[in-house]
Amino acid sequence: MLDIEKIEALGDQHIATSLETPMRKDAFLLSEEEKIERIQKYFQKIMETLGLDLNDDSLSGTPYRFAKMYVKELFYGLSPENRPKISTFENKYGYQKMLVEQDITIDSSCEHHFLPIIGHAHVGYIPKDKVVGLSKINRLVDYYAHRPQVQERLCLQILNDLQETLETPDVIVIVNAKHLCVSSRGIKDKESFTTTLEYGGKFNDEQLRNEFYGLLKNGH
Ligand SMILES: [Zn+2]
Repeated sequence: MLDIEKIEALGDQHIATSLETPMRKDAFLLSEEEKIERIQKYFQKIMETLGLDLNDDSLSGTPYRFAKMYVKELFYGLSPENRPKISTFENKYGYQKMLVEQDITIDSSCEHHFLPIIGHAHVGYIPKDKVVGLSKINRLVDYYAHRPQVQERLCLQILNDLQETLETPDVIVIVNAKHLCVSSRGIKDKESFTTTLEYGGKFNDEQLRNEFYGLLKNGH
């Protein structure tokens, strides 16, 4: 039996139940093409249940477009195979100060309502022996964003991956985002946005965090 009250409460409070994206053991048994075919069928049923006439020219291709968008675009980040390859380079310059990549676009989806989460991530790190190409940080953020998400988990997944890839705990991640499930339904608050912050290592020092905040333009 579905506990509808619990489902509603969990969604409205946007609570994540684990750090890992909860995946089924059989998540990758079907190919992408098989997934598209299946979702297409199911979404057609949803549209029909809503009373829509799929014989209409404008609607007839929607189940396929929807299915392809889910598998290949919005949720491509569910598949570990799609994680961007990130080559690291030796920190030859011995650069030991903070490096900040800001205003990285967040295009994600809330896992409780499957509505968009849009905003920005700001990432800072202090290189140890390894550095990465800057665009790789953007790609990594994009990858984790393209899953059904909870903002806290998204922030933490980006942090953990960067700490591992850069082989240093000295990383900080801020995510500022609007949730369409808050602005378009429920409380319908158009202005509010959510900020999450995760950091480790040297960023436990308040002065260093303040330096990072100072480098973000517009006082993000
Ligand atoms: Zn939501």
